[in-house]
Amino acid sequence: MHCQFICTQCGRRYSFDEPKLRCDGCGEPLEAIYKSLKPEVEGQGSLLRKFRGFYPFGDVSEAMSLGEGRTPLIQSSVAGGQLGIDALYFKDETQNPTWSFKDRGTLCGVQYAISLGYKRIGTVSTGNMAASVAAYGARAGLSTFILVSAGIPAEKVKPIAVYGPHLIRVKGHYHELYDESLRVGEGYGIYFINSDAPFRVEGSKTIAFEICEQMHFHVPDYVVIPVSSGGNFRGILKGFEEFKSVGLIDDIPKLVAVQAEGCPPIAEAFEERREKVRRVRNPKTIARAIENPYPPSGNQVLRKLGENGGLALTVSDGEILDAQRLMAREGVFGQPAACAPLAATKRLISKGYLKPEDRIVLIITGAGLKIPSALDHLDVPIISTAVDGLMDAIGKVVEGSS
Ligand SMILES: *Cc1c(COP(=O)(O)O)cnc(C)c1O
Ligand SMILES: [Zn+2]
Repeated sequence: MHCQFICTQCGRRYSFDEPKLRCDGCGEPLEAIYKSLKPEVEGQGSLLRKFRGFYPFGDVSEAMSLGEGRTPLIQSSVAGGQLGIDALYFKDETQNPTWSFKDRGTLCGVQYAISLGYKRIGTVSTGNMAASVAAYGARAGLSTFILVSAGIPAEKVKPIAVYGPHLIRVKGHYHELYDESLRVGEGYGIYFINSDAPFRVEGSKTIAFEICEQMHFHVPDYVVIPVSSGGNFRGILKGFEEFKSVGLIDDIPKLVAVQAEGCPPIAEAFEERREKVRRVRNPKTIARAIENPYPPSGNQVLRKLGENGGLALTVSDGEILDAQRLMAREGVFGQPAACAPLAATKRLISKGYLKPEDRIVLIITGAGLKIPSALDHLDVPIISTAVDGLMDAIGKVVEGSS
């Protein structure tokens, strides 16, 4: 299918085989546009096969798939009950091959890189994107370069290294690494699938597509998304827009972008009605996956929030940890960033912005076990006993709860 890239700000166009992430003119991110989309949706195969009418790849290589996507939409009982919302849902992205939504975009990015003949791919990331690109690079047999910042916590390094990429620690800020990676990529023929690369964004469309299917094409009122670079937010909104453009749905939900109080570049600009994000000086939050202090798609998220009528807000680390515990009480264990949407929903209900009758989908972006250190904040009673005391110990619990 005919596909081009268009600058999200100035509208300048680039051809499909120019592997650019940003506009030469204004520096803003690019996105893929299609001459015509085909509304058929197949049942079988990988996401790129299933939704092939929304992608430019003729022949997709199914061997590159690790079974990403097709994640459940789980209706909340405990959290929904506590907040008084009947139709509260978790789109559970923790169930992806590398335990975050990133796998959707990585599959797309790898497919794009291969279709242009690349033998090398890479990414700049400190967490989930790194693991995802390392895994899919291994799967596709590509030489994979992962650039992480020198300050990356030790618990995150080996879960990336295990896939066997070239893992390089680099001193410097994320946005400097991002820019440098594009130069390195041109120099050595490495396609960098960074956080808001056009085809990474294209992968996130499938979250919206699946929500539409799972809700029988009757879209929710709100979709609440934890936002860092802005790539996932852009992709989810683009997915709804494309399904609407081909007549599969009638409406587009309002999107809520959630950030952490300790790193709120988009939420702050939204609040102050600015058109541009400013770099946050000393970012600090337990939700490391939404800690990008200078988000490369921040300005585009602001433009899109304006069109969409959604909003951006912040939540505290304390609220995030409370939400993590509450979700786990009904079996869904997200990493801190992934629990920010529930924390935000709580706030917005108490402010009267969200109503009990609203249909709300929270994007649970990544799995709790990714960040075991966050559990240091978890205070739960644990019963200890010798074997011969077990009857008594359980007896107390059973009697206590009857
Ligand atoms: C990457 C990530 C985000 C942020 O997504 P962006 O596309 O960078 O805005 C949120 N939560 C988790 C768990 C992530 O891995
Ligand atoms: Zn431009």
